[in-house]
Formats: sequence, structure tokens, C-alpha cells
Amino acid sequence: MSKLFSLVTPAHNEGANLELLHAEVSKAFEGLNWELIIVNDGSTDDTFAVAKGLTQANRRVRLLSFSRNFGKEPALLAGLKAAAGDAVIILDSDLQHPPAVARQLAEKHEETGADQVIARRNRKGDGIIRTGLSRLFYRFINHLATVRLTDGEGDFRLLSRAAVDSLLALPEHNRFSKGLYSWIGYPRETITYENAPRAHGKTSWSMHGLFSYALSGVIGFSAKPLRVVTWLGMVGILFAFAYVIWLIVRWAMYGVEVDGYLTTIGVIVFIGSILMVSLGVIGEYIARIFEEVKNRPDYIIAHDIQQETGD
Ligand code: UDP
Ligand code: MG
Repeated sequence: MSKLFSLVTPAHNEGANLELLHAEVSKAFEGLNWELIIVNDGSTDDTFAVAKGLTQANRRVRLLSFSRNFGKEPALLAGLKAAAGDAVIILDSDLQHPPAVARQLAEKHEETGADQVIARRNRKGDGIIRTGLSRLFYRFINHLATVRLTDGEGDFRLLSRAAVDSLLALPEHNRFSKGLYSWIGYPRETITYENAPRAHGKTSWSMHGLFSYALSGVIGFSAKPLRVVTWLGMVGILFAFAYVIWLIVRWAMYGVEVDGYLTTIGVIVFIGSILMVSLGVIGEYIARIFEEVKNRPDYIIAHDIQQETGD
């Protein structure tokens, strides 16, 4: 049998897109041996029914359906675990990651043997605010984190069996895939493609969601925020020390005078705020440690549907 390509797609309320996705994948992967794994991440629309219909019409399609919405990261993890392929291609189910480009990834992999073949998109058509915030995020995280991330390089990529197994060997629960892909290493190739708007429906990401995603990237791959807290404390000590010396000198020269109400309040508020921020930073790490030690499963699969025979 020829090499098997597993296409893994997380789907949250993508009922309107799945049939088109399947049709395009069938067309693009014509002549290759492939399977499509749809992970229904607790959709509230007809995603389950549509995907189930696809599994019944075609034995190349497998449906994993979560018991509720767990998020894209757990959905990807479930898909990667289920994938039987010699290479796995991760793609969104809203057709923003064109199956034709996925085919190019497969070809590049055959040609070069690279363990990671990444599809990098430009940001054409994205909102100004989101583009700006993304830029800021990449600058920030590359400055802080132990891994390098590149704007436009996301989950749309091909991973060899070795790369997938390496990812699956990482035991952490709070997964930030963009960082993990970079962390596992392996030879990589990149192709670029035009950013496309979603076929149907709307994005499931809110600003708040994106923000906490960015935060989990920083916390997951860097201890620097903790170090910043230490530095803040040290700078604070230096200031306090200089201030006290100045007070003593003044006292020696002019004696005691009772004013400086504003200074006192100012210093209290300043130190209080620094303490609060520091506790918040430390709290973020502790919260994640707490999540990890609870060791709950990353998702619950309620249905796993694949037709055994037919085509
Ligand atoms: N997705 C998911 N669970 C979620 C949110 C999103 O499985 O809780 C899937 C979604 O169906 C899509 C992919 O993740 O296939 C990317 O989501 P979306 O298109 O909303 O995000 P964007 O394209 O804006 O990054
Ligand atoms: Mg999308």
C-alpha cells in the first residue's frame, strides 16, 4: 500500500463547510492514499450529523465527536492520536487552509523528506487590529520565550510520523501547539499561500479567547515574567534605600518636619500595585501547575465513527 496521509481537521460549528471540505480534499488527494479525521469539538449546529453522513458515504472519513466544546488544541491532540498515517496534515475545516495547498505540502514532503512542511499564510484580508495585535504578540513572545515563532505559521502543516510521535510524547495538558511544533525541532520546509476568508460561518475566536491563548503561549514557554517580578522588587529596594538615605540626610540638616503626606500615600500605592501585579504573575504559573497536576484528560470522546467497509 502506498504512503497514507492523514488529514486532521478540528470542527466547531462547521456544518456548512464539511461537505465542501470533503469534496475538495477528495479532489486534491486524488491518486494518493488518504484519510480524513474530523474532530467535532462540541458543535451546537449540524456538524455532527453532516460529519456522520460523510463517514457513512465514505470509508476514508472518520469522525471523533467530543462530549462538549474542549477547544481547538484538545481537538488537534485527539486527531493526531487517532491518525494512522505515515504523515499527518493538520488543516482547519473552514477552508481557510485550502486542500489544494495541503496536497502541495504532501508533495513537498515526498520531494524533500522534511519532517515538518509548513504552510505560511500572508495576512491579506485580516482586520487591522487583529494583524497589529498579532504582530505585537510575535515580537513579545519571541523576545520572552525559549522557542521561535513566526507570524503566519500556524497549525496548517504536515508532520511526519516521527514528528507526530514526538508531539504525542509530550505529556503536558495546557498545550500551545505553535510553541510545541517549534520545540520538537526536525528539518522543516515552508511554502507560502494566499490568505483566504472562511467559506461559511464565523470565527469561534473572541478577543478574550485570543488573549488567553497568547498568555498561555508566554506562560508555557517562558519563565521570564517571574524574573521581571524579581527585577521589579530589586529596583524597588534600590529606590527605597536611596529615599531613606535622603530622608536621614535631610533630618540631620533640618531636623524632623511632619509633612510628606502625598509622598507616603504615593509610595504605599506604588508598592501595593507592584505586589499585586507580582502575585498575579506568580498566580498564572501556579494556576497552570494546578491544571497540570489535576491530570484530567484533555477531552472526552463521545462518539468515534468510521465505516468499516464500502467506499
Ligand atoms: N475550532 C475548534 N474548537 C474551537 C474553536 C475552533 O475545533 O473551540 C476549529 C474551527 O472549527 C476551525 C479551526 O478550529 O476549523 C480554526 O477556527 P476559526 O476558523 O474559528 O479560527 P481562525 O481561522 O480565525 O483562526
Ligand atoms: Mg478560520
